[in-house]
Amino acid sequence: MASLQIPKEPLPKPTWWGNVCAGVKSTWVGLGITWRNFRSTPVTIQYPDEALPIDARYRGIHFLEQDICIGCQACAKACPVDCIEMEYDRHGKELEWFKFTVDYEKCMFCELCVYPCPKDCIHLGSDYSMVSETKPMFLKELLSYTGLTEEQKVRIAKADELKKKKAAEKAAKKAAEKAAKEAEEAAAPEAPPEPPTKEKE
Ligand code: SF4
Ligand code: SF4
Repeated sequence: MASLQIPKEPLPKPTWWGNVCAGVKSTWVGLGITWRNFRSTPVTIQYPDEALPIDARYRGIHFLEQDICIGCQACAKACPVDCIEMEYDRHGKELEWFKFTVDYEKCMFCELCVYPCPKDCIHLGSDYSMVSETKPMFLKELLSYTGLTEEQKVRIAKADELKKKKAAEKAAKKAAEKAAKEAEEAAAPEAPPEPPTKEKE
């Protein structure tokens, strides 16, 4: 490591002509830099109307593929700062969503919530702009819709219908089996009366 060299002798005092030459030289150096930048293309962008390209592996604000999420909570359990919360109701295989939030006051963009997802449906995107003077803005809702979609309602109705049909078939089968057993019992010949047993003397 280079140590600071302190000159033993004081530096010679610059002359008047020396100062003039140094001033002229530094002016030309400065003008050269100005000229070089004057000819180069500008790098200023009009943010937020324009934005610089983001790296593909940038870890920005989350986005969720809601339609394939199964509500297993693996992402929420993996989060080291507990900033993911979700609420939903199950209707068989369908989920009725109420809430899926990330609290960006706590989130540190570590991506640990992404790896355990069995459906690969939660991601960190390239969006980074989140500016606000109020706290609620930092509690971001990742759901694109809440409740049930029309397709889900149709699927639930079909599943319920199928369930009812299967239950009715099962009940009918059980009733038929019971009736057959009763008929079999009615058709069977009556057992002959048992011979009287000898009483012990
Ligand atoms: S990026 Fe990290 S801190 Fe943020 S929600 Fe995911 S696991 Fe939690
Ligand atoms: S881990 Fe994936 S599938 Fe499970 S709740 Fe989170 S986002 Fe949904």
